[in-house]
Amino acid sequence: MSLASLLSSPIEYLKGVGPLRAELLKKELSIYTFGDLLQHFPHRHVDKTKVTPISQLTPEMDFIQVKGVLLGFHTIGEKRSKRMVAQLRDETGNLELAWFQGIQYVQKNLVEGQTYLVFGRLGFFNGKPQVVHPEIEPFVAQTMAQKSLLEPVYGSTEKLKARGLNGKQIGKLTQVLFQQISERDLPENLPAHLLVNRMGRWEAFRQIHFPASQAQYKEALSRLISEELFIAQIRLNLIKIDRHKNSKGQVFEKVGDYFNTFYNNYLPFELTGAQKRVIKEIRQDVAKGFQMNRLLQGDVGSGKTMIALMAMLIAADNGFQSCLMAPTEILAQQHFTSLTELLKEMPVEVAILTGSTKTAERRRILKGLAEDTIHFVVGTHALIEDPVQFKKLGLAVIDEQHRFGVEQRSKLWKKASIPPHVLVMTATPIPRTLAMTAYGDLDYSIMDELPPGRQPIKTVHRYETSRASVMDFVKSEIQKGRQAYYVYPLIEESEKMSYEDLMQGYEQVKSFFPEPTYKISMVHGKMPNDLKSENMNRFKSGDTQILVGTTVIEVGVNVPNASVMVIESAEKFGLSQLHQLRGRVGRGSEQSYCILLSSVKASKEARERLKIMCTTNDGFVIAEKDLEIRGPGDIDGTRQSGALNFKLASLINDRPTMEIAKAEAAAICEKDPNLTMPEHLAIRSFLQTQKTKIGWGKIA
Ligand code: ADP
Ligand code: MG
Repeated sequence: MSLASLLSSPIEYLKGVGPLRAELLKKELSIYTFGDLLQHFPHRHVDKTKVTPISQLTPEMDFIQVKGVLLGFHTIGEKRSKRMVAQLRDETGNLELAWFQGIQYVQKNLVEGQTYLVFGRLGFFNGKPQVVHPEIEPFVAQTMAQKSLLEPVYGSTEKLKARGLNGKQIGKLTQVLFQQISERDLPENLPAHLLVNRMGRWEAFRQIHFPASQAQYKEALSRLISEELFIAQIRLNLIKIDRHKNSKGQVFEKVGDYFNTFYNNYLPFELTGAQKRVIKEIRQDVAKGFQMNRLLQGDVGSGKTMIALMAMLIAADNGFQSCLMAPTEILAQQHFTSLTELLKEMPVEVAILTGSTKTAERRRILKGLAEDTIHFVVGTHALIEDPVQFKKLGLAVIDEQHRFGVEQRSKLWKKASIPPHVLVMTATPIPRTLAMTAYGDLDYSIMDELPPGRQPIKTVHRYETSRASVMDFVKSEIQKGRQAYYVYPLIEESEKMSYEDLMQGYEQVKSFFPEPTYKISMVHGKMPNDLKSENMNRFKSGDTQILVGTTVIEVGVNVPNASVMVIESAEKFGLSQLHQLRGRVGRGSEQSYCILLSSVKASKEARERLKIMCTTNDGFVIAEKDLEIRGPGDIDGTRQSGALNFKLASLINDRPTMEIAKAEAAAICEKDPNLTMPEHLAIRSFLQTQKTKIGWGKIA
């Protein structure tokens, strides 16, 4: 049998398994092969070397082991509470053992007066120590010597238990497995220089199941976690290399007049260090001749629009058109306004195309795009509709990507013979560790710096009972000339309810801020686009002081004079959404405030979220907290990624290891992208034995 094939043997061939149990192991635990069983790691070990004197048992103890003489059985209770009890006595005291099931079997197999070793979870019943359904075996002097020091306990399921495969019995199978395999079946897969001070692979697999000591277990765990992360990173690097090899892209070789004129004459502010760095990354990328597929992650207000504009200018310098897609009409309009403003002195033709563009105008734009008289087009989904043809599309910028489906994005491809470079911008911070794994195959830029002069937003949490004083505060801000947002949650399952909530809220706000002293506009998802834009624009222009809305204002809206945001039922929002919303204020030089109103009945977890919001403004910190609270499965956009299903590694606890693995893998793949150097053959042959499970693919 060859090396790989023993581990790939079907699980039914393992002694003690057979077809029935094999079926269940597959269904319940996805264990199909010997190798899968090997990777079904114990979730804990119990220390069975320690024997505690009965008098020293305390309620704080969990699993315990005692040794003593079994005294007489008797049955107590009636019907459903009927149980059999026995006493176990050692030199220091008595422990009660109890059985609710299998009473006859127990009675038949246990012998009064004999010395037993008893193991189980300690409970206290009427103040006396008790173990229910103990594991019990006759004490023989050598028993202790033979025992593996730490006994593994494996995850199992009710169905498996019913078939005689509880956590302990799975351990028996693992033992059988280890009798069949040898070191040759688990050849080393890490290069030698990474093995310095690390446990070898075979040893690590043995010790993680049947450790000789706690210390050995820890070493084994750490070795296998590094391996898991390292291999994952190697994979991502290989995918990236492959993508670069196979994706031809337009070459933007120069930075010319458009860019330079703008940069030297019309740039309204000094770029932040982060903006400069990202521009440079993009410039290098688009000159290489393969398609750029870059994710730009920048916290709200970090100035991503300027990056988009400058990248578009580079495209123009190389004779290419660009499009900028926004998820909503409001945002598209906003981008269009700011681009035209910034470019008003420049010979650049900018157009906007959305669902509400009138027919004649639409015709003019389509013509302009097809003939290359329009350089930049801003728009919504309307941009990817079939009739839109570009003459020379070189760059597609996609703002707030999570609102665009992968499929929609790929439609852009077909708009040019060589696919355009793609820059996806998002303000939804993804924890770095997640990004490194989920998006590790993409080019990836981070803007973690805000433009200077911003004052951190002050965030507070108030209960709804103090709404009146919150309104008073808002009033005082408005009297200073500021503007305010009122946000109501959108409950997706119940649009109708959300709508009613919103209307009620609107009335309530109106009663606090009566017309004509105060003017209020409202936006929500069900509103026709024209009306939405109109109401939005009234707020933007300062005509209304208050904007009441649902989360449609979540993304991208830029009104620097708005300095207060009140979020109603804030407990109903997730952390990243709250952060997005809050990002609508704090955009000017004034002190801004975010007030989170919640019901007094908000859950503990919800209050925890609100507390985090009150303590930090940093989107990356918030994203990390979100990850801690919800776990990786729920983080936006990563749910189906499949990239996060690590067996041992934890994205929260193993971050340092992840960073190391990432650097190690990148260094190796850069030096030896085909893994043909002798020192990398081990990795290569390991990858070949593995089924490729990568499928989360390309973002755009
Ligand atoms: P976001 O990254 O959230 O899309 P925007 O691009 O909307 O952020 O920028 C937010 C605000 O910051 C805008 O008013 C923009 O003009 C301003 N801004 C962007 N970059 C800078 C900078 N380097 N210095 C000062 N203000 C900047
Ligand atoms: Mg933006």
